[in-house]
Amino acid sequence: MAVIVQKYGGSSVADVTRIKRVAERVMETKRLGHDVVVVVSAMGDTTDDLLALAKQVSANPERRELDMLLTAGERIAMAVLSMAIRELGGDAISFTGSQSGIITNDRHVDARIIEVRPFRVQDELARGKIVVIAGYQGVSYRREVTTLGRGGSDTTAVAMAAALGAEYCEICSDVDGVYTADPRVVTTARRIGTLSYEETQELAEAGAKVLNAQAVEFAKEKGIAIYARATRSPLPGADPSADGTVVRRFPPRMPGVVVGVASEKEVLVLTVGGAVPSSPKASAESLALGVMELLDEHRVAGKQLHLADGWLSLVVSRENLHEEARVRSALRAQFGDAVRIADTLGAVSAIGAGINASFHNLRRGSDALASAGISANGIATSSFRITWTIDRSTLDDAARLLHRTFIEEQRTPVPDPLG
Ligand code: ADP
Ligand code: ASP
Ligand code: MG
Repeated sequence: MAVIVQKYGGSSVADVTRIKRVAERVMETKRLGHDVVVVVSAMGDTTDDLLALAKQVSANPERRELDMLLTAGERIAMAVLSMAIRELGGDAISFTGSQSGIITNDRHVDARIIEVRPFRVQDELARGKIVVIAGYQGVSYRREVTTLGRGGSDTTAVAMAAALGAEYCEICSDVDGVYTADPRVVTTARRIGTLSYEETQELAEAGAKVLNAQAVEFAKEKGIAIYARATRSPLPGADPSADGTVVRRFPPRMPGVVVGVASEKEVLVLTVGGAVPSSPKASAESLALGVMELLDEHRVAGKQLHLADGWLSLVVSRENLHEEARVRSALRAQFGDAVRIADTLGAVSAIGAGINASFHNLRRGSDALASAGISANGIATSSFRITWTIDRSTLDDAARLLHRTFIEEQRTPVPDPLG
């Protein structure tokens, strides 16, 4: 019997009415004869509310205690959904991440799954039960409860799908798939029927919230097909790309074609250079390494690192940064004015395989931004992405502009690799 993993996001279980609707969709899947595993996020804005609660007590909440608090959100949702399924006559049982065998490293707040031991899940499936799992959480080898970083329920679902050899993993949300840009910001964005793992991973890393980047990384590693769909849409039919997005291994598109635009608002841009009062002769590289060591000690991850001509620049996402005040004061105490932190910038990216084969796309994007008076503070490229760091207040306009330039005015439509 095929195992199907379905994940329902926070907005899909925001209230009792919606939880009942999800329960019906789960029952419909079970009636088709599948073994069903359901991964659920915390109800509505619960995670944000719990974080706000922590902040009322502590400006720099302890990471371990945050995990104890945040995991409660998904625990509530799993129990209530399980009850709702049982009310419909389904034989459901709920499990926390730890009970489901999600083993992580011990990096609280943004832990990584290192192994899944789904024995209890398999036992209950064998008994014919519907297993409801709390997303976003696991347990470390030291038996500490951990969370997987914001949006981490997607990762739970994909990891569980891989461990169970599931046929596919459905990620159900308020949006019916992955769009060419955030449809809340770019009203002309359109759904993309099929995406490769690499394209999806880059979109997610650049800020497209609909799928979690680590989840896509896992899916790619284990060859799991992801169906991104709306909770309100029917179960996947013969062609799930017709009313959702299918992410799996696909032959490459024409190089240089932009598939989407994504942006990230809440970033800090660190610039490191000049003399440190405590060690004025420190070289640029040793200064940069010192800053990275401090960031590592505080478990702060950075991206787009660039060291040149004695200056280091680095982008830090605020998504899983809950001790910003503590990190800022540690940087100031150790490095003084040699570390500057800009809190007015955001990042907007265009994504596509081979996007930088020539400078054509970069020039087109920069010209489009310049024509609207938006100048880039920095530009970073990889073979899949061009990222412009710009004033945060212009981010939404920039996303619309780049979408118009690269997607709407594209002469040839994005070729469908299946077509
Ligand atoms: P869930 O709670 O179901 O996990 P999320 O809020 O994490 O849902 O993700 C869904 C949201 O992602 C959508 O409401 C949409 O505004 C946003 N989003 C950002 N970029 C994209 C994109 N490229 N395609 C679809 N949705 C996107
Ligand atoms: N509830 C968590 C969050 O809000 C995990 C998730 O929704 O995937 O980030
Ligand atoms: Mg999400």
